[in-house]
Amino acid sequence: MQIEFLSGSVQFVKGVGPRRASALEGAGVRTIRDLFQYYPRRYLDRTSVTRIREIASDMESVTVVGTIRTTGIIPGRKRKRFEVQIEDEWGGRLKCVWFQGVTWISRVFEVGQKVAFHGKPQRYGGGYTIYHPDFDRLDEEGPALETGRIISLYPGSATLEKSGLTSRSLRKILFGLFKEHGENLGDVFPSWLNEKYDLIDGRVALRAVHFPRSRDELERARHRLKFEEFFFIQLMLSKLKKGNEILDGYRFRETGALVRRFIDDVLPFQLTGSQLRAIQDIEVDTQSGRRMNRLIQGDVGSGKTVVAVIAMLSAADSGFQSAFMAPTEILAEQHYRNLKAYLEPLGIQVRLLVGGMRKAVREEILEGLAGGDISVVVGTHAVIQKGVDFRGLGMCVVDEQHRFGVLQRATLFAKGNRPHMLLMTATPIPRSLALTLYGDLDVSIMRDRPPGRKPVSTVMKWETHRDEVNAFLRTELESARQCYVVFPLVEESEKLDLKDAETGFEKLRATFGQFTVDLLHGRMTSDQKEETMRRFEEGEIHLLVSTTVIEVGVDIPNATVMLIEHAERFGLSQLHQLRGRIGRGEHPSTCILMAEYPRSPEADTRLRTMVRTDDGFEISEVDLKLRGAGDFFGTRQSGLPDLRIADIVTDTEILITARQAAFELTEMDPDLESEEHRLLACYYDAFYREDRFNLSRIG
Ligand code: ADP
Ligand code: MG
Repeated sequence: MQIEFLSGSVQFVKGVGPRRASALEGAGVRTIRDLFQYYPRRYLDRTSVTRIREIASDMESVTVVGTIRTTGIIPGRKRKRFEVQIEDEWGGRLKCVWFQGVTWISRVFEVGQKVAFHGKPQRYGGGYTIYHPDFDRLDEEGPALETGRIISLYPGSATLEKSGLTSRSLRKILFGLFKEHGENLGDVFPSWLNEKYDLIDGRVALRAVHFPRSRDELERARHRLKFEEFFFIQLMLSKLKKGNEILDGYRFRETGALVRRFIDDVLPFQLTGSQLRAIQDIEVDTQSGRRMNRLIQGDVGSGKTVVAVIAMLSAADSGFQSAFMAPTEILAEQHYRNLKAYLEPLGIQVRLLVGGMRKAVREEILEGLAGGDISVVVGTHAVIQKGVDFRGLGMCVVDEQHRFGVLQRATLFAKGNRPHMLLMTATPIPRSLALTLYGDLDVSIMRDRPPGRKPVSTVMKWETHRDEVNAFLRTELESARQCYVVFPLVEESEKLDLKDAETGFEKLRATFGQFTVDLLHGRMTSDQKEETMRRFEEGEIHLLVSTTVIEVGVDIPNATVMLIEHAERFGLSQLHQLRGRIGRGEHPSTCILMAEYPRSPEADTRLRTMVRTDDGFEISEVDLKLRGAGDFFGTRQSGLPDLRIADIVTDTEILITARQAAFELTEMDPDLESEEHRLLACYYDAFYREDRFNLSRIG
């Protein structure tokens, strides 16, 4: 098999040409490989068609096939709509309605045409209606359907339609493509892989996914292609990981005196199971001789700081310095206070390094770091600026790691020779996603939380409860507690957004006149923001109104109320992060979700999930299901190739197996040199080599 032809432009494929090529480009199809991978979105055969008369109101989504009987634009009271009525061969009639793109859609259909409609049927009057259905024109597929064939239907768009690229013409083009290039296709997988993982031949799968002969064959084909898609991404990650592991890291001593003294004498509590496991993972890494590259994933409040402290102490035990980096000054300062309390009793020098320090102080710190007197430095990115040099940097801790750019992390890394990296994130993500986004890192998950934390109770309230809600805020404020009130960020208009918050702020100030109410919003400079946060932290501000700019990780134990306005507009992970700002002290805390109608079913699920659970991992699973993988946190920015057939949410099992297979291959044949892996190696080099992707990775 040659690989080069796969990169050829679709323009020269029979039946395409320049005009269609540019329409295809709009659908992400540029090369022959893209075209092969332009997988059908749906398949139509006898078994997948519902008779209109058998539609029931609880059906989520149906496919109906019939002939168009009437079409027409209806003026309507508010806006016009387009309606068609179809009749299927069993005499059932169904209506489809469009409110958008009326002019265009009205030109698509003609009476007498055969069509398939897909969508959720809604009961209306005596019959059923599908609003904005997906559709396929079937004029010439009709007879094929009767012969019992399975017909592939491709994702369409107005642009594709305009260039005549219907499912039918795409099938024709693909048929020609297989005819012309079928011989050149090979199976990129070696036979041991297919056998071990029970996969069908790649060529057979590719053909069958476009031209299936049976449902069974189609399923096997889809399975194989999903596996392959995950496999190459995981192969890339396993190579990145392997690349990191080759570096010889500093080998730390086994549990030294400082760590032991810290646990015995300083630590005021018992470590949780999750903390112990994470510490164990770190010990294994740092004593292995490999460089550690580990991510700690743990919800807010899971106690990640102590884990980092122990990691830094074990560095100190072996004579190394540590750097602890946080994304903002206010966070760096909080960490500094905590770390000092933990480390100074052990005689360890900790210093804070942030921007805008007095020159003399800064210089003294730089000297201490270069000379080795200072063992631990905490700070913002000031830690990695020019002129900051270490005597022996052995451990880098990066808190809220997703807030740092690739470059900043790389610079920090370069400060030492090859320091161990400990990354921490308080944004839990589902396992399937973690295996992809962080697939090249070692990950420790901290699921259980320290005992004795006061749970946060979460309630949903409506505008009609406003007085009750205000009365509750008043009670809390009078008990000297502090409150957050958050307004949503309306993306289209920062101004409008601010207006909402400003109006809310004025109202609250009028209602709670005897307390200090202040406003924090996205248009303030970062200095102003930090100043306001600091005043809130110091208790000068009692009630803080804000748009969603409250820092992740800010720890203000006296804040016990989080009131979220228009909670239905927030994403789940955002709601969870906001709620994580409270419940950090000795007093019981309450999160109030102010909701309004109209709400989508998804918004409803989000709010109810928040009321039901505060487990970040559980919440992130729901979030991923609701939003689908494409849109989910980070996948887009991760720089990983898009998935074309596999689905991270529903195909997790396949992902896990494919990952295992990829790592197995990397162990077996790290450079893919063996003859049976030659094709796989070519394919990998052509389309997946690590440096082809802009991965936000370290090292
Ligand atoms: P996060 O993971 O959000 O960074 P922190 O490290 O800030 O969490 O810890 C949250 C709080 O829990 C802190 O006040 C910390 O002192 C406390 N804590 C951490 N570990 C334990 C434990 N094992 N038992 C009791 N309290 C703990
Ligand atoms: Mg933290």
